[in-house]
Amino acid sequence: MSKVITLLGSTGSIGTQSLDVIRAQGYQVFGLAAHSNVTLLLRQIIEFTPKAVAVVDPHAAEQLKAQLSTMPNPPVLLTGKEGLVELAAMPGADIVLNAVVGIAGLAPTLAAIESGKDLALANKESLVTGGQLVIDAVKKKGVHLLPVDSEHSAIFQCLQDAASAKSLTKILLTASGGPFFGKKKEELQQITAVDALRHPTWNMGGKITIDSATLMNKGLELIEAVWLFGLPADKVQVVVQRQSVIHSMVQYSDNSVIAQLGVPDMRIPIQYALTWPERVPGPAPELDFTTLGTLTFDVADEDTFLCLAAAKRAITKGGLCPTAVNGANEQAVELFLQDKIRFLEIGEFVARAAEEFSAGNGAYTLEELYACDAAARAMVRRLANA
Ligand code: NDP
Ligand code: MG
Repeated sequence: MSKVITLLGSTGSIGTQSLDVIRAQGYQVFGLAAHSNVTLLLRQIIEFTPKAVAVVDPHAAEQLKAQLSTMPNPPVLLTGKEGLVELAAMPGADIVLNAVVGIAGLAPTLAAIESGKDLALANKESLVTGGQLVIDAVKKKGVHLLPVDSEHSAIFQCLQDAASAKSLTKILLTASGGPFFGKKKEELQQITAVDALRHPTWNMGGKITIDSATLMNKGLELIEAVWLFGLPADKVQVVVQRQSVIHSMVQYSDNSVIAQLGVPDMRIPIQYALTWPERVPGPAPELDFTTLGTLTFDVADEDTFLCLAAAKRAITKGGLCPTAVNGANEQAVELFLQDKIRFLEIGEFVARAAEEFSAGNGAYTLEELYACDAAARAMVRRLANA
């Protein structure tokens, strides 16, 4: 079946892999959005001929405007954060795929849902920062929220049998362990951004690669799983699976465990989110069991990787605590990539946010959420003297 898609974050790692899937399936593109990579966005506009595009950065938008003026049938150009939100809500697409990075993805997530469109969600920070608002809006609008994150796609795939899904007792969230698996704090003192940007099994954008090295990514995913699948945090167990072949598992009341396996290729979960509930052939290769060898399982080291414990603490506290932990992490990662703080300080600052920020009375508005994000970022800059 042909579909029309609006893809937010089209120039990123998930964005470009989504376009591989869209190309292979012959889907149409209604909208594309990026922050500032005009060169790649222009190539994508030429190939996929969207009706509308959004560029968040104002200077980049000016550059693109000049380029589009020479094209015969240019797409409508929307700019700034408002443009991104407007594009997410524009009629014309069947489904919005949100592959923006960070809390910047929250507003377009809410806009897409409120406009009544199904949402394929790669931007985990939407659920981490505004889980209650997102889930409430999904219920109110009766739209589908389709996970793109590989672990959540795996869990979603394992839950497709509706009769069994009612008996879900536990989620086994797999983790690669990142590039520093098995290392202790003493060995992590001197880690640089270059070291941390080398991931053993997945090829991803910069921010999520650092999150994988600190295990914050698994912490964010644990919070994401709580919102998507409705189990409490203590029923989501992190299992280190170094080969990234088992993408996650579910356990039912009879203690039967169902897993989803495949090569570590994001095009499988991206495609499933777009074709659900159908399965169709796609660009990702098959898993070769003749060369696979051993699958290993380990426990995550929360004493060394403080982010994971902090994220658990935050979702257990509830309210805006996960928003604070996410904001502290986004700010800390930015400072680490600028060589302004050490690797281990990311975990220390995130743990501090989980400690200091309270849940309030649990409920919150969007304004309170953004204020909390700003306060957590300010706390990190203060701690870092930055
Ligand atoms: P990238 O950094 O590779 O790409 C991010 C995309 O978002 C780019 O298109 C970028 O535009 C755009 N962008 C960046 N900042 C903003 C902003 N402030 N407003 C609007 N758009 C913005 O990230 P990834 O593709 O790796 O990750 C995207 C999301 O998917 C993240 O939430 C991540 O956690 C999640 N995810 C990623 C996986 C992966 O394998 N990469 C796996 C599972 C989940 P520009 O290029 O112009 O800067
Ligand atoms: Mg993941």
